[in-house]
Amino acid sequence: MATERTALFMFFGATGDLAYRKLYPSLFNLYKKGSLRTHFAVIGTSRQTLDDDKFRVAVKKSLADSGNRADSKEASDFISHFYYQAHDVTDTAHYSVLKDAAEKLDKKYKLQGNRIFYLSMAPQFFGTIAKDLKAQGLMSTNEDAFNRLVIEKPFGRDFDSAKQLNDALSNSFEEEQIFRIDHYLGKEMIQNIEALRFGNTLVESLWNNRYIDNIQVTLSEKLGVEERASYYDNSGALRDMVQNHIMQIVSLLAMEQPVAFTDVDIRAEKVKALRSLRVYNVADAATNFVRGQYGSVDNQPDYRHEDNVPADSTTETFVAGKLLFDNYRWSGTPFYVRTGKMLADKFTRVDVVFKRPLVDIFAFPQSQNTPLAANVLTIFVEPHAGFSLQLNAKTNDAGFSTEPIKLDYLVDAEKSKETPEPYERLLHDVLKGDGTNFSSWPEVSYAWKFVDQIRRVWDLQAPNFPNYTPHSMGPAAAEELIQRDHREWIYRLNN
Ligand code: NAD
Repeated sequence: MATERTALFMFFGATGDLAYRKLYPSLFNLYKKGSLRTHFAVIGTSRQTLDDDKFRVAVKKSLADSGNRADSKEASDFISHFYYQAHDVTDTAHYSVLKDAAEKLDKKYKLQGNRIFYLSMAPQFFGTIAKDLKAQGLMSTNEDAFNRLVIEKPFGRDFDSAKQLNDALSNSFEEEQIFRIDHYLGKEMIQNIEALRFGNTLVESLWNNRYIDNIQVTLSEKLGVEERASYYDNSGALRDMVQNHIMQIVSLLAMEQPVAFTDVDIRAEKVKALRSLRVYNVADAATNFVRGQYGSVDNQPDYRHEDNVPADSTTETFVAGKLLFDNYRWSGTPFYVRTGKMLADKFTRVDVVFKRPLVDIFAFPQSQNTPLAANVLTIFVEPHAGFSLQLNAKTNDAGFSTEPIKLDYLVDAEKSKETPEPYERLLHDVLKGDGTNFSSWPEVSYAWKFVDQIRRVWDLQAPNFPNYTPHSMGPAAAEELIQRDHREWIYRLNN
């Protein structure tokens, strides 16, 4: 059994999609594992008029929909800790009702004043809520207690708006009390990057520009915008995927070894890496980043004909780019990234492409041998978790030629059932006060500064959209981007 943690959770946006689909099932998993038991309570709040009973029915349905036995005693004991309070977050006077409810539950469940405020609603409310949590006295004043604020994405839409939001939050909360969610950081194989790098001499001693030719990060989605169109059309792939998830993955791949495995030390190294990421001038931004928007195929409409998308939308549904770090470890080794909707398949992977041997002794004049392939370390993030290492080996025959072979490690299906959902891990981290798998403000700000520059250049010129076929791997420009450097994407269609 895990160590029991004590806290009051206050969920803002408690009747929303994220709360029902992810947050309540994740809390229930923590309950089943013992991280939550007796000393916890949940106040759900949103604009909707509900009472405790109706809220509990909705939570029960959320557990059932996520595959739990919601009529078990364990589930009903868990649900009995849930309370509801209707509240419009813009109504300052009404925070006192939440305060009274929090104090009552604190006594009833002996919560020691520990409070977790989870803002699972539209970002325009984040600043107001943070202000009133402090101003209206909802934050615990008990010296030994904690107050933690969990913020959903997106964190701003450019550096200026992100800074404005951060300034608003930091009037009420210290940086170490703020947990900015990036659910990619809760994924098993993203967390495994640190184990793979810093737990293996074999890997870490080669992890630099002397031995690595390039690194490729691909976040590929098979679906189009679906029901998120009105949000997505205001955001686009660069803001929605690159600024947060891709920059976080890249910083874990690029950072130096932290002094210790603590949130403070890991964040310090990620920030240092991001500081040495080259922010492009206009010409380099235009050359090193390409965008795309999907066209139509068969019965599938193009992006501009999806529901809630303007017919002249210039929003990108695909982006590919080259990132360069100006530091001793990475100078000369590019990181290529790409992400998009309506691509060939749904997966996330990292391909680390090593340099070929400097001399190919198997290429003697009378040899028929094909040139040695590059060693490639692939980190499969999803849907399957694992690694694969491509090496060259002798073919198993009487002659002497070489062929690429793969050493594979895949987490088996049984084991992967035990893998906690990202939201479960992240909620557990919040309970422990461990900020390792959350984005710190300096990380967010450097990522925005990099991305803003690309956006600025793109906004100067209308794109020629649509420019890629659904179920492909994006526009021709993404191929040209890497081929220009005499390289190619390791993941290609049909390989
Ligand atoms: P949603 O629209 O389904 O829910 C919004 C919630 O906010 C509802 O409970 C609503 O009643 C409440 N609300 C709205 N205005 C209010 C007000 N003035 N006062 C009080 N309550 C109010 O949203 P969602 O999909 O659950 O997303 C919540 C947050 O999580 C957003 O920041 C979103 O970007 C982020 N997010 C969601 C998902 C997802 O899968 N749904 C994924 C990643 C991030």
